Amino acid sequence: MTGMVGAVEQDAAWWALHDFAPLLRWSAGRVVLLGDAAHAMLPHQGQGANQAIEDAVTLAHCLAAAGPGEPGLLRAIARYERLRRARTRQTQRYSRLAARLLHLPDGPDAARRDTGLSTLATDLAWIHQHDAHEHLAAGTEP
Ligand SMILES: Cc1cc2nc3c(=O)[nH]c(=O)nc-3n(C[C@H](O)[C@H](O)[C@H](O)COP(=O)(O)OP(=O)(O)OC[C@H]3O[C@@H](n4cnc5c(N)ncnc54)[C@H](O)[C@@H]3O)c2cc1C
Repeated sequence: MTGMVGAVEQDAAWWALHDFAPLLRWSAGRVVLLGDAAHAMLPHQGQGANQAIEDAVTLAHCLAAAGPGEPGLLRAIARYERLRRARTRQTQRYSRLAARLLHLPDGPDAARRDTGLSTLATDLAWIHQHDAHEHLAAGTEP
């Protein structure tokens, strides 16, 4: 492992971070997006891959429960989008917010941020305690 890391040229230690504004829709007909293609986010909440996995669980469930034929498929895709859109948008927003907060220079804003860290686990419980299966079972659709 250290050999692999050591073989990487120094230039590769730099990469650009990108996100994009929430898309208006994630599907066109039978084609549907998930993961970064649907909602690329900054990595500052460590959520990009996690949200992709939640998408996959939700989409798989919606497809498995789909009614017959093309209409059933399109309804399943629409349901998946409804179930996932609000949460991924919120996570995108919080990732941007964290990017800003984590790079504050020393000063009163940074001090306020540090004080708030004591409640971080509770503040971010909506991210980390989410259970995609429970969400589906509850039928919670915004
Ligand atoms: C610095 C950094 C730290 C991160 N830390 C975390 C973290 O701690 N936790 C977390 O959950 N997430 C983290 N992420 C985010 C995570 O890496 C991404 O959100 C996740 O990889 C997205 O998965 P994906 O399958 O949607 O897209 P990708 O992983 O980008 O997969 C897309 C795949 O499609 C392939 N592809 C593209 N075009 C074509 C084509 N035309 N034909 C065939 N194949 C194609 C690509 O080669 C790629 O393999 C981090 C990201 C960065 C940059």
